[in-house]
Amino acid sequence: MNPDTSSVYRQIFEHHPTSQLLVDARSGEILRANEAAVDFFGQTGAQLVTMRLSELIADRSEQGGPAIQHRLMTTPLPLILSPHIAGNGCSDIEIEGTRLHGDDERPLLHVTVRDVTERVRTERALRDFEEIFEDVPVPFYRATPGANGRFLRVNPAFVQLLEADSAEELLGHEIASLYVDPAQRANFSNALMQDGEVFRYELHMRTVKGREIHAADTAFRHFDESGHPVFDGALEDITRRRELEVELSYQARYDKLTDLANRRHCETVLQTETERSDRYGQPLSALMIDIDHFKRINDERGHAEGDRVLEWIAGVLRNRVRETDLAGRWGGEEFLVLLPSTPAAKAHRLAEELRQAVAREPDGGSTPVTISVGYAGYQHDEGNARFMQRLDRALYAAKGDGRNRVIAAEPPGPP
Ligand code: GH3
Ligand code: MG
Ligand code: MG
Repeated sequence: MNPDTSSVYRQIFEHHPTSQLLVDARSGEILRANEAAVDFFGQTGAQLVTMRLSELIADRSEQGGPAIQHRLMTTPLPLILSPHIAGNGCSDIEIEGTRLHGDDERPLLHVTVRDVTERVRTERALRDFEEIFEDVPVPFYRATPGANGRFLRVNPAFVQLLEADSAEELLGHEIASLYVDPAQRANFSNALMQDGEVFRYELHMRTVKGREIHAADTAFRHFDESGHPVFDGALEDITRRRELEVELSYQARYDKLTDLANRRHCETVLQTETERSDRYGQPLSALMIDIDHFKRINDERGHAEGDRVLEWIAGVLRNRVRETDLAGRWGGEEFLVLLPSTPAAKAHRLAEELRQAVAREPDGGSTPVTISVGYAGYQHDEGNARFMQRLDRALYAAKGDGRNRVIAAEPPGPP
């Protein structure tokens, strides 16, 4: 037996959980409202059928605009409206219309109204986050873990930092190829997998264009819907800071005028080398060098010329010491040369070579530039203070003997 379809459709309309209205498409008069609509609009059914759709749902953005039923007639898609509907706590609705014809051929509109407040709020929040992600000048990324991890998303600031032309270009890259040492990617990934987060993990990277940069990565590990680990992180460009650190560290250890190790660095290396010699019994020698009558040189040729002489002597030292040796400016016109793994006899030969190299240099002034040198071999366990003292005395002796000469230090006396 055929069901009475009109009765079935009436029941669907009446009991449907979303608000349903039947509206005269021309006048906007509400002809019928279901139970859900009564609840939703907080009006009785009898009241609803005395109202027009535009009285019931007035879009805030649409004051004086076309009536809602007209828009529903002409728009195939659901409309999202922010209407004034007093009392039900709903701020956004989705309204949808279907054109029908009544028995008397008068055009009707079947209207469905849904509360989409939550959905609109969520979408808005999501859009806000998207905007932050895109606009914030901090390089953000999402990536898969592992040595061969890849980027899933990057923001424009990230694209800029890595000197790529577009996000797509980076998404195609294996992340490890952006590291100067690809093994660092594996270490980073292991640390993040293990600890769940890393704070300013320092990375040595290479941009897409090949420029080396230093970056600090702050990231955390989480799991996507399928349970796969994902990394989210922010990079901070610390290239300039690293360069400054290197520069500062150099300035702290090297003398500005001569570019030789400064007194402090000399003392540090001296300490290390005497300790090493004490521990392993390797020979260690040193030269203490002082320019003869430097005050006169300054007086005769001026202070600037004096500086030039200091630079020149520094060059002579630099050219004749090995990589493993250290030449330093111990004081104003006094230099220390430290010779690890070198016995005293060899130090003596080097001292003579240096003295002759300086003395040989043709020189216009009436006071020739010469140097006096004291040298010594480090005695096991004597300590750096006594070692320096013996060197000083040897240098003093060289001065006393008439300058422009090399004198061996006395062996240390009993402690
Ligand atoms: P001696 O042969 O006994 O070593 O005589 P000297 O004149 O070299 O000895 P002294 O230590 O009395 O003088 C060192 C001079 O070196 C004094 C100082 O003005 C000068 N001096 C120290 N540092 C610098 C510097 O950076 N530049 C210049 N031009 N002169 C310096
Ligand atoms: Mg001097
Ligand atoms: Mg001096």
